[in-house]
Amino acid sequence: LLPILLHQFIYRKANPTTLPTFLLIGPSGGGKTALLTLTERNTVLPTHTSTVPLAIEALLPEGYTPNSAHYRSAGDPAYERARRFLLLDTPGHGKLRHFATTQLVNPTNVRGIIFVVDAASVAEEAGLNEAAEYLHDVLLALQKRYTGAKTSKGPKEIQVLIAANKMDLFTALPPHLVKIELEKAISEVRKSRAKGLKDSGVALAGEDDSLDEEREWLGEGGEGSFEFAQMEEVGTSVTVKGGNVTGGGVDVKSWFEWIAEQL
Ligand code: GDP
Repeated sequence: LLPILLHQFIYRKANPTTLPTFLLIGPSGGGKTALLTLTERNTVLPTHTSTVPLAIEALLPEGYTPNSAHYRSAGDPAYERARRFLLLDTPGHGKLRHFATTQLVNPTNVRGIIFVVDAASVAEEAGLNEAAEYLHDVLLALQKRYTGAKTSKGPKEIQVLIAANKMDLFTALPPHLVKIELEKAISEVRKSRAKGLKDSGVALAGEDDSLDEEREWLGEGGEGSFEFAQMEEVGTSVTVKGGNVTGGGVDVKSWFEWIAEQL
């Protein structure tokens, strides 16, 4: 009970409706908790629990400038305010993934998604496929959110950072290969999902079967391969950057730079 109370307390305290929020998503073991713990060092409200999603209110570390405060100087109240953000951890366990999906459907000032992936595990088929399936579903949820928006302007953009973690391991794929491998694997996921939809007859139940298929198809139509660049059409840019949270040393510079750009 205590973790739940604490969790609610922090939610209220941190006021997620006003602070820019970043979701930590990704397969279990990728390094989300480790990254959260590291970020906690700059945190206003530290806490700890592993079974419920965990929000921390963090400060952009010294040396990074929030994009919205480029023309202000450190110490200026507006500058200091712009450094604040929420980091929301979501359990990577399959059954708990609905937490992440709920956040996507009903975002409370979600500015970006940090998809943490073990760059060594995606060098192998099982790890790659698990990450690709998860990422496919996240991107499809973002696409649906955009295409289903009521306003002509579309909803507020949500950017995606693929944090290719564990670069300290010599088996880790470099970021550009993580990108290529994930794009290839997601192409396969969307092909098999489309086939599954057809086989199950879901798409044929209504008259609008082609429309249903289209809605479930990530990125551009056609038989070509999926590329992250296709997400630009639905207001999401996907960036892959390498780093490591533990191991030989810490290198999270490119990730904090990315967060700074979204603030
Ligand atoms: P989560 O399931 O995504 O929250 O992953 P965790 O944060 O629990 O990390 C899973 C394991 O990977 C832990 O044993 C971490 O110590 C380890 N880990 C996290 N980041 C790194 C990293 O950058 N390099 C290495 N070598 N191990 C890491």
